[in-house]
Parts: sequence; structure tokens; C-alpha cells
Amino acid sequence: VTRETAKTTARELPKSAVALTHPDRIYWPDEGVTKEGLANYYAEVWRFMAPYVVNRPLALLRLPDGINGRQRFFQKHAWKGMNPHIGEIIDPKDKRGEKLLRITDFDGVVALVQSAVLEIHPWGATTDNWEKPDMITMDLDPGEDVAWENVIAAAYGLKERLEAEGLAAFVKTSGGKGLHVVTPLTPKASWVGVKAFAKWLADSMSSDHPDLYLATATKAKRRGRIFIDYLRNGRGNTAVAPYSTRARPGAAVSMPLEWNELTADIGPAYFTVDNTPTRLNALPRDPWDGFFAAAKPLETKKR
Ligand code: ATP
Ligand code: MN
Ligand code: MN
Repeated sequence: VTRETAKTTARELPKSAVALTHPDRIYWPDEGVTKEGLANYYAEVWRFMAPYVVNRPLALLRLPDGINGRQRFFQKHAWKGMNPHIGEIIDPKDKRGEKLLRITDFDGVVALVQSAVLEIHPWGATTDNWEKPDMITMDLDPGEDVAWENVIAAAYGLKERLEAEGLAAFVKTSGGKGLHVVTPLTPKASWVGVKAFAKWLADSMSSDHPDLYLATATKAKRRGRIFIDYLRNGRGNTAVAPYSTRARPGAAVSMPLEWNELTADIGPAYFTVDNTPTRLNALPRDPWDGFFAAAKPLETKKR
């Protein structure tokens, strides 16, 4: 390779002026992932991740001493000394006028890293259109003793039902125990309409296969079955962002997949801070290529 071609093929990673203090601070001890390592991870995934986290209200899981530390804050509002690259925005429906959190660019995500945010949980709507969700997230939560193959089958069950309604379906690992099936929407239906549709989907799954699925959150009933968690879809509810890390052992991330990548060879926490850059650089395209272009309005009708 000549120097010329090397220059043109090397991918430009985004750079940030946000200062990282204590870049060697360890966030995931077993994997040796540091603050600087996490910032480098987000630089690698940013070109794919940005549309799912920019200009959306965010809930943040902050662990200042890393995943084994005692401090763990689930934060929807600003904290004392918050980095100025994390923005605040008034929720137009909040009567007390309490501001929510938002980032608008790569500096924002680096500010989250600097602040020990180890999980990023956005709303399924943007701050351009607070009352009209632009996605549905169906969260598959397997109880104990559920085989991975059955979780995959459940994702396909949702895909089929969504496609029968004229909607698209994309899948990601949660980075934890399950899968998320995500549908892009043209912002049109309200939160109430979208949540009712998500509940209808979950109910339809569980009434067709009561031995496999349930649509109620009761933990005790979950053993051997998959809870089709539709509750990510109300106003103010969140789901972990595509490419967000998880504050759990293993430094896994929530990874968007093409459907043909959803096989027995991978598990819900297969993709990590460590193996993701190699994966993405080897891909022919964004695994969720065309996500927003595939958006359709959710028609409210009796189902
Ligand atoms: P898994 O595959 O393990 O189920 P998950 O991301 O689907 O991973 P959880 O981490 O259990 O599920 O979180 C469920 C949802 O609840 C998340 O999508 C998140 O937005 C929200 N959540 C997480 N932690 C809190 C918290 N401390 N307070 C309120 N909501 C939370
Ligand atoms: Mn889940
Ligand atoms: Mn859940």
C-alpha cells in the first residue's frame, strides 16, 4: 500500500476538545476498560450511533467509580458540576419546568464519558417532536431457563407481526440478557397510541403462544418464558441506545445486527467495547442501514 492509498482508506475518527481528567481511571476492571478506552470506543461507533442519541431526552446511568463502585446514579436531570457539553432542555409538558438532559454532538458523548456515564438511555422521540415517537422498542426479557434459540424465535415473531402491519423491524442485542426489536416510525401517532400498539403486539404474542411468552411484568411467572416488555414505549420511558455500553461485567454493548447475523453463534452480550471496532470496520454497511428511511406512520385502527 502506498502512502497515498493508506491516507485515503484510513477512516477519520471524530475528535473532541472535551478534556478527559484521569483518562486511566478504570471503569470495567476485569476488561481493563478505562475512561480513555471508552472515549476511543465512542469515537469508533459514533458515525453509526449518532442518530439514536443526538437531540433526544436522555436518562443516564453514572458510575463514578466504575461498574464495581458503590455509587450508581440513574440520572434524568442535571447534577452539580455537570460538564457544559451535556445540554439541558425544558420538557414542554413538565409543569415544574424541570429540565431534561440532551447531547447534540460528539463532544456531548465524550462529556458523558468524562462524567462516568456507562449507559445511555434515550427516549424514542426527538426534541423536535416530543409528543410523536419516531420508534417503537420491543424488549425481549427471557426468564430463567429460556434457550437463546427461543429468544431469537421471539424476535422473528415480532418481526412478522410488525411487517404484517406494514412496519419495518430491526434487531439489536441488549448487551444484557435479551434482544430489542426496534421499528422506525414517521412521527404521527401519539405516545398513547404507540404504547397501545406495543401492548397489542405483546398480547398477540402471548395469546398465540402462552407457553412461550407473557405480556405482564410479573417476575414470578417468567421462569421458562419470555416477557415481551412493551413498557419502553410510554412518554418518558427509555431503552438503552444502540451502541451504548452496559454497566455490567464484560463491557458488553447493545449491538445493532442485520437479521442474518442473529444466530446461535452470538449471545445477547457477545459484542463488547473490545470486539466492536473490528466488527464495524469489517462490515459492508451499517447493520441498520436505512433505518430512518424505512419509517412509516403508525395508523391508529382497531386491532
Ligand atoms: P436486559 O437484556 O438485561 O433486559 P435491558 O436494557 O433490556 O437489558 P434493563 O437494564 O433491565 O433491560 O432496563 C430496563 C429498562 O428500564 C431500560 O431500558 C432502562 O431505560 C430502564 N431503566 C434502567 N435502569 C433504570 C433505573 N434505575 N430507573 C428507571 N429506569 C431504569
Ligand atoms: Mn430487556
Ligand atoms: Mn425489560
